[in-house]
Amino acid sequence: MHSISPQQRTIIDSLAIGLNADEVAEDLSITELSVISNTQLLAILHAANACYRAGFPLIDDATYDHQYLAELQQRDPTHEFLSYVEPEVATGKTVTLPQKMLSTDKAYSVTEIEKWVERIRKAAQEINVPENDIQIRITPKLDGYAAFDDGERLYTRGDGVRGQDITRAFTRGMAVAQHGMRGLGPGEIVISKSYFTQHLAEQFENSRNIQAAIIAEKNVEPAVKQAINEQACVFYPFSLLPNWTGNVDDVLSDFTALLEPIWDAVDYDIDGVILETTNPDIKTHMGATRHHHRWQIAFKVNDESAEVEVLNVTPQTSRTGRISPVAELVPTKLSGATISRATVHHYNMVKTNGVGPGAVVQLVRSGLVIPKIEKVLHAVTPQLPETCPSCGSHIIWEADHLICPNKTDCSAQTENTLVHFFKSLGNNDGFGPKVIEKLHQHGIKRIHEIYALSQNQLLGYGFGEKTAFNLVEQLTVSRTVAIEDWRFLAAFGVSRLAGGNCEKLLEHHTLPELFALDVDAMVTIDGFAQVSAEAIVEGLANVKEEFFKVYDLGFNLTQTPKLSDSDLADSVLFGKQVVFTGSMASGSRPDMEKHAKSLGAKVGKSVSGNTTYLITGDKVGANKIKAAQDKGVTVLSEAEYLAMLQ
Ligand SMILES: [Zn+2]
Repeated sequence: MHSISPQQRTIIDSLAIGLNADEVAEDLSITELSVISNTQLLAILHAANACYRAGFPLIDDATYDHQYLAELQQRDPTHEFLSYVEPEVATGKTVTLPQKMLSTDKAYSVTEIEKWVERIRKAAQEINVPENDIQIRITPKLDGYAAFDDGERLYTRGDGVRGQDITRAFTRGMAVAQHGMRGLGPGEIVISKSYFTQHLAEQFENSRNIQAAIIAEKNVEPAVKQAINEQACVFYPFSLLPNWTGNVDDVLSDFTALLEPIWDAVDYDIDGVILETTNPDIKTHMGATRHHHRWQIAFKVNDESAEVEVLNVTPQTSRTGRISPVAELVPTKLSGATISRATVHHYNMVKTNGVGPGAVVQLVRSGLVIPKIEKVLHAVTPQLPETCPSCGSHIIWEADHLICPNKTDCSAQTENTLVHFFKSLGNNDGFGPKVIEKLHQHGIKRIHEIYALSQNQLLGYGFGEKTAFNLVEQLTVSRTVAIEDWRFLAAFGVSRLAGGNCEKLLEHHTLPELFALDVDAMVTIDGFAQVSAEAIVEGLANVKEEFFKVYDLGFNLTQTPKLSDSDLADSVLFGKQVVFTGSMASGSRPDMEKHAKSLGAKVGKSVSGNTTYLITGDKVGANKIKAAQDKGVTVLSEAEYLAMLQ
């Protein structure tokens, strides 16, 4: 289980995310993210975000970005979490910021930077700015605590629109960096790296804890007070940052070399660089999304690496029977995070590269899989399991992977499959790994068997009265709360049938029909090639019996609209992308979204060039409406929308 500190516990338990701190910790220890439900994924993201902002990071940045955020991006690219500036933990009341503070879009590769430069070029062309006049400014990206100074008050960034008044940091004597004056707008509260190492490292685990202390309402500790007095803690306005400025050709000719001096330009933690164009006309022309300015981008790299000794390689059996090698490492600090384990891609890599106890590997925090074993510096005889760590079956090679072939009686596979089912439904509570393990110990192996459980049986298995009651109730809840049919199908965990593919199939066939499809019929559906179709048809056949036992219990399934449905084709919303914003009078927003979907609409979370209609409820800002209209989106009031449907 992922360990959490008392501070993290307090923060997480104060959030309304549906899970408590222990549950979040438990979910964080799941390495195979596909088994995590949307609710759990969002809970992890919110919890990690809140802890990070409070100065007690729960996971390292890259894990947050590349695993959890990337997973959400993959499941639902339009999810609103991806397009909002994550709020900080509120400890007091909030005030409206003098100016909106957006987030910065991030790039992790030079290719992404090249694409961004291309967009700048295109924008310049559109408004007839000669290419030579395009100026790009590059500054270090401070890894501190974002704030806004309007000259009178200092604010936290909050949700980008409302933040907290933290003027007390200046009252306590905090200076503006570079002898700057007050009122220079956005910047970061930062702590000198060398000062931290010399004077504070023994007392504080990382500089974030100090940032949190500087702005906290309670009195600051003497050591922090002294750091403020000695101007080791300052507010650094972005406009005063050392910078490189040049034209687009200079940026692209040798980007990496260009960055060299910027990494060491300041004695503060930085986690990348910021690129922006300084030309005001281009800025105005490019504008912003809800989340970030289009004329600005952060380039994040982290080529910090460490040589780490492997203590052990532990096999873990997943739901599908694949055995994942997890390298347990001598705990090592890398870019502020302590890393004690890293997943090795597959067992073939363990075998060919000689990963085992005593091996020395180079661990890199980079923009890819994090933490990543870059190379093996000292190989040893690899540790290859011969049997499944869960059921003891003799395991076999399948391409690069070791597989437990025991499809019927392997605890890890059985339990992970059951956990996956309830998590994927995402409309119920209580059937986490611990409960499932206990049920399995009493011989429960299948989903339909769980649905047949009574409160008395559960009492007999050693569950408490309240838990037994809740579990039975949650089973009813899971059947009565409406759930999309594609989600229900995805819960059975058939290989290559995650949510997206389920939805695509169900646009053409009903759920029961899918089980009668052969490969030839499936490849006629857009997006299904021969190999996928074969795997899916086989996978469906394998779960068919269990599927119908569960399906026949009667779930409240919402049908995916059929593309061929002639009634729908007549609907004004058919195939149109619709976004709802503001609070609606005739129903909750989720209900209205479901209704629009049932009429054949594609529902988005934020306006893009593909949006047809933006339906505005109450309290929608004029800017938002103007921005949508600028993109050619038809803006409708709720009343106009309802009138259109009739
Ligand atoms: Zn097994």
